[in-house]
Amino acid sequence: MSSLPNEPALRLPSVDRVLAAEALRPLAERYGHGAVADALRAEFDMLRPLALAGGLAPDAIADAALAAACERRLSERFAPRLRAVFNLTGTVLHTNLGRALLPDAAVQSVVRALTTPANLEFDLATGGRGDRDDLVDEVLRELTGAEAATVVNNNAAAVLLTLSALAPRKEVIVSRGELVEIGGAFRIPDIMSRAGARLVEVGTTNRTHAKDYAEAIGPRTGLLMKVHCSNYAVTGFTKSVSEAEVAAIAHAQNLPLAVDLGSGTLVDMSRWGLPHEPTVRDVVSAGADVVTFSGDKLLGGPQAGLIVGRKDLIARIKKHPLKRALRVGKLTLAALEPVLGLYRSPEHLADRLTTLRLFTRPQGLIHALAQRLLPALQQAVQEAGFDAEIAAMSSQIGSGALPVETLPSAGLRLRCRDARRAGRQLARLEAALRALPRPVIGRISDQALWLDLRCLEAPQEAEFSDQLPVLRERLAAA
Ligand SMILES: *Cc1c(COP(=O)(O)O)cnc(C)c1O
Repeated sequence: MSSLPNEPALRLPSVDRVLAAEALRPLAERYGHGAVADALRAEFDMLRPLALAGGLAPDAIADAALAAACERRLSERFAPRLRAVFNLTGTVLHTNLGRALLPDAAVQSVVRALTTPANLEFDLATGGRGDRDDLVDEVLRELTGAEAATVVNNNAAAVLLTLSALAPRKEVIVSRGELVEIGGAFRIPDIMSRAGARLVEVGTTNRTHAKDYAEAIGPRTGLLMKVHCSNYAVTGFTKSVSEAEVAAIAHAQNLPLAVDLGSGTLVDMSRWGLPHEPTVRDVVSAGADVVTFSGDKLLGGPQAGLIVGRKDLIARIKKHPLKRALRVGKLTLAALEPVLGLYRSPEHLADRLTTLRLFTRPQGLIHALAQRLLPALQQAVQEAGFDAEIAAMSSQIGSGALPVETLPSAGLRLRCRDARRAGRQLARLEAALRALPRPVIGRISDQALWLDLRCLEAPQEAEFSDQLPVLRERLAAA
């Protein structure tokens, strides 16, 4: 409502006057005076053109209205940027959604480590200085059969540190079929040059033979290395040389073999009907001298890079200056220790280790969940032109683990009734799901939006359905 021509235009009140008003006091108490002042100035910046044009309504600058406007700005500004989402992509270990979810034992341990002093580097037996790796050294030795262990920030760091410590200015022999890119900027050849080692490629992309390794060994060779094909599969006319064979070739020349196992699992997953992945113990007993693997892939723990192997080599790795730069903090160790502990009782693992529980969740249970959720979802989307239905789906383990294997799953598939507009409409639906209080992340493929329910467990079911009415409103408003 604009002011009449003969009436003076309404002016903005003074910032200080409004800040002192009773209506804004609770905000200052909650967010601090400076933040409230910033919010108020931002609100005034928005209102000023209106005021100059004479279009400011008295209601808009009442204390209560300004307090409400500031509250909106402040709650948005103070809202955490790291948000809980629903991972309905079907990829259990989704790198962009934070990979492994941790079991309660790890959560409790992290809370404790965050809020109480702990013996991170303090030897309780002697009262002297301790080594943070000692917290997990014994359990890692026990679970892998290796002589020693150390932990760094992630597996990329583990590989970088291993190469830096064991092969500086030396040649490292790797099969051409294993010169992988893991995603982002992790490429074996780049890591090799960063570590100051010289890459010697042997064999061809599809075939590498034992003699290729043997013939490449020379006076400058420092290390032989094998890299697990984590995120791809080489099929067809292929040949690679087993860890045991490469270890024998290396050891005959007194050289060590390092294996980057990528995901690295501590138990044979086929025990739960999952596809077989070589375990760390398999690779250690095949003769690998150092094995590196991730903490937050199949292992189901926090982000970390684990290095296990021969005692003398682990000692060299631990002495390297990069170890200090790449070491893990107490949060990581607090989470890792209980996760490793769960592997000591493998018969309970599928209940207690969150990731394994998700991998092994029976399709029937997921299907029943889809049936429970279908009516409410259908109601939320139907007026906006979509239909929801139950569909069989294939989940993936993710994070490069077992890239070609899938897990039979189930979920809800959403399709646009107007096929000609399906592309744009599905993008709109996807955006609306992402904009929910707890964003829902699905996957668009084959002209449909797929919500794989494998990773929606019972405790979160209500939180999911409770926000479906919000989805309905948003779709109607858009
Ligand atoms: C995932 C992976 C890495 C990188 O591990 P991060 O823990 O993500 O740093 C390195 N090598 C292989 C073979 C991998 O699969």
